Amino acid sequence: MEELQQALKNCNLTVSTISEKGRSLFTTRDFHPGDVIISQEPYVCVPTQKRCDGCFSTTNLSKCSRCQVVWYCGTPCQKSEWKLHRLECQALSRLDSNKRKSVTPSIRLMLKLYLRRKLQDQKIIPSTAMDNYKLVEALVAHMSDIKEEQLVLYAQMANLVHLILQWPEINIKEIANFFSKFACNAHTVCDSELRPLGTGLYPVVSIINHSCLPNSVLVFDGREASVRALQHIPKGTEVLISYIETAGSTVTRQKALREQYLFQCVCPLCSKVGQYEDVRENAILEGYRCKNETCDGFLLRTTDGKAFQCQECGLVRDKEEIKQIATEIKFLLEEASKPSSNGNSHEAISIHKMIEKLQTKLYHPFSINLMQTRETILKAHASNEVYIPFIQ
Ligand SMILES: [Zn+2]
Ligand SMILES: [Zn+2]
Ligand SMILES: [Zn+2]
Ligand SMILES: [Zn+2]
Repeated sequence: MEELQQALKNCNLTVSTISEKGRSLFTTRDFHPGDVIISQEPYVCVPTQKRCDGCFSTTNLSKCSRCQVVWYCGTPCQKSEWKLHRLECQALSRLDSNKRKSVTPSIRLMLKLYLRRKLQDQKIIPSTAMDNYKLVEALVAHMSDIKEEQLVLYAQMANLVHLILQWPEINIKEIANFFSKFACNAHTVCDSELRPLGTGLYPVVSIINHSCLPNSVLVFDGREASVRALQHIPKGTEVLISYIETAGSTVTRQKALREQYLFQCVCPLCSKVGQYEDVRENAILEGYRCKNETCDGFLLRTTDGKAFQCQECGLVRDKEEIKQIATEIKFLLEEASKPSSNGNSHEAISIHKMIEKLQTKLYHPFSINLMQTRETILKAHASNEVYIPFIQ
């Protein structure tokens, strides 16, 4: 920690512990929009599909001839990864071909974590203040909040890791604990168009907390993660990024944060929950429309819970009527997924148009569902290369 603080001081940053939130990153000078606040190479990373293990490229790939699991774009990438892969390769080569197929990116991330720790312990790979195993150890795991079935899965994965490494000294419980650390701390490495390339562990970047109103953003250049200022960040301010898509309503955002990152967000946007503005926003984005087609009011559940009432004109919509349209939409959505998967986009478009018609009757004009259907229709038209003017 001392060592980390010293290294962060040189970047004009400091780590403080806040009750409730835990470790948090603060600025010690002003940062301006676009400034790089911190950048970091991953402690370990793996591509999620068939990509070069060194640079995540998909061109000129050839398989490691020994383990037949890992791909490289050429000798430079193979060489740069060799110290770590030499040990991983040995371990993977011991497995029969069936077991080798069960080596998923998450399993490989764990193998690499243990192997890199060992190589840093032996000083074969150097460690620095921002690149050492202690930083990984310091990450939060939220073990007590994890669902039973998830724990069972982590235990199974930990068993496989144990079987692959065959190190008598490692403990299955510790591996399972690391899997839960990965779940709330590993980052998806994306390209400039936000397509996922792989998963990486960036233990210093992981200190940065979430806000639905962030002042910074996490971007990737190859495997390197950089946090950039989105706005002027005065000295002494906490650096905050968003872990999730911030476009959703408060309910959607909070659900995503709870399920994936196991915490309750208390950012300024979320603390509005229950207040009039927030209720209104959620009701518009995710709620139903007024029975009167010319009214743009939003609907709230009546106190008896049996109907929805327009907050503008007072008209009441029956729950059964809403349910019926929702069922029809659900049926059509299932139908729509069939022809589009066969590439018959004309049929898919006509079904989506029926869905749009029903959703227009059901949802508020600004509803996310309706916008998504319209986007689907537009995309289907584009892929069909048939231009049909779109009528709102
Ligand atoms: Zn490469
Ligand atoms: Zn290999
Ligand atoms: Zn929030
Ligand atoms: Zn109304």
